[in-house]
Amino acid sequence: MKYGRTYNFSAGPAIMPEPVLEEIRDEMMNYRGSGMCVMEMSHRSKVYQQIIDEAEQDLRDLMGIPDNYKVLFIQGGATLQFSMIPMNLMKNKKAVYIETGAWSSKAIKEAKKVGEVIVAASSKDKNYTYIPDCSDLDIPEDADYVYICENETIHGLTYNTLPDTKGHILVSDQSSMFLSRPCNVSDYGLIYAGVQKNVGPAGMVVVIIREDLIRDDLTDLPIYLQYKTHADNGSMYNTPNCWAIYCCGKVFKYLKKLGGLEAMEKINQDKAKVFYDFLDSSKMFRGTVEKKDRSLMNIPFVTDSAELDAEVVAATKAAGYDNLKGHKSVGGLRASVYNAMPKEGVEALVKFLKEFEANKK
Ligand SMILES: *Cc1c(COP(=O)(O)O)cnc(C)c1O
Repeated sequence: MKYGRTYNFSAGPAIMPEPVLEEIRDEMMNYRGSGMCVMEMSHRSKVYQQIIDEAEQDLRDLMGIPDNYKVLFIQGGATLQFSMIPMNLMKNKKAVYIETGAWSSKAIKEAKKVGEVIVAASSKDKNYTYIPDCSDLDIPEDADYVYICENETIHGLTYNTLPDTKGHILVSDQSSMFLSRPCNVSDYGLIYAGVQKNVGPAGMVVVIIREDLIRDDLTDLPIYLQYKTHADNGSMYNTPNCWAIYCCGKVFKYLKKLGGLEAMEKINQDKAKVFYDFLDSSKMFRGTVEKKDRSLMNIPFVTDSAELDAEVVAATKAAGYDNLKGHKSVGGLRASVYNAMPKEGVEALVKFLKEFEANKK
């Protein structure tokens, strides 16, 4: 790695593409003759308006977002969406949630403060190691939406088939898989993603919402919590996270140049395969998730003892592979191999772990 950088396997904030960081560095002191850094610019200036417009358009191109969907850049991270979604979408005060791990559980907890939550399927019985069958869910007719966390960052599982919502709106938290594979936006009513996992710097969420779901009858709701506020003001009701929008815009352009989401998916499949093949052949390490539901982005794995897990974490860190400790709520290890992680990084880590295992014999 250049610049003495480490292979960073953090779950988030996470690794960014090196060419993007280099471009940002080159524009740091004087953005394209403006005489300013993007951090110093008025969000009402022409030069900044162009940055945010291009970011939105590039994201629309990448995902093929239909015209009847709004793209919003909102602050408060993905966490604020746990509340904003029920506040804005629960007309009948009732929604269906699928419980597959830490992040959907948190969303459920917040939604319960707003209305009735029906957990129609859960994998809690097996410590969130699989995606439950969602082909025939019991969905009340008057449920306002069906909610999923499409990639559970902590538990490392992902949906390869979307639930049959039986005509209800699908809402998806894509934070840790955003732009990792093609996405048919029309399948959803609302998609959101905190950007610090797979796109840019922390502190912002992208919300893609079908226009007819934006309500104007929510005048009692604090103005900042209404999607309408952000939609009506081009994500600039107040000062947006100008810097994050700029950096995300760079990543969108980078992905377009790479060949778009089909190309990205192929790279991600190749990369994850290197790691999963290793886990499946190892006698010391094993993956914790059912094979059919394995995430391409977050790979949790364990040895047979917590002591050995800790030893591996320390050894990898010393060798230049950082942030492999599993989340404190589940233990073990976890390698996050987001879009920006080069395949060489995964290959190098696998080589290291193989040697570690061989030396332990
Ligand atoms: C990280 C994460 C969140 C929370 O993101 P914040 O930006 O820290 O609020 C929510 N959902 C998923 C799936 C995540 O990975």
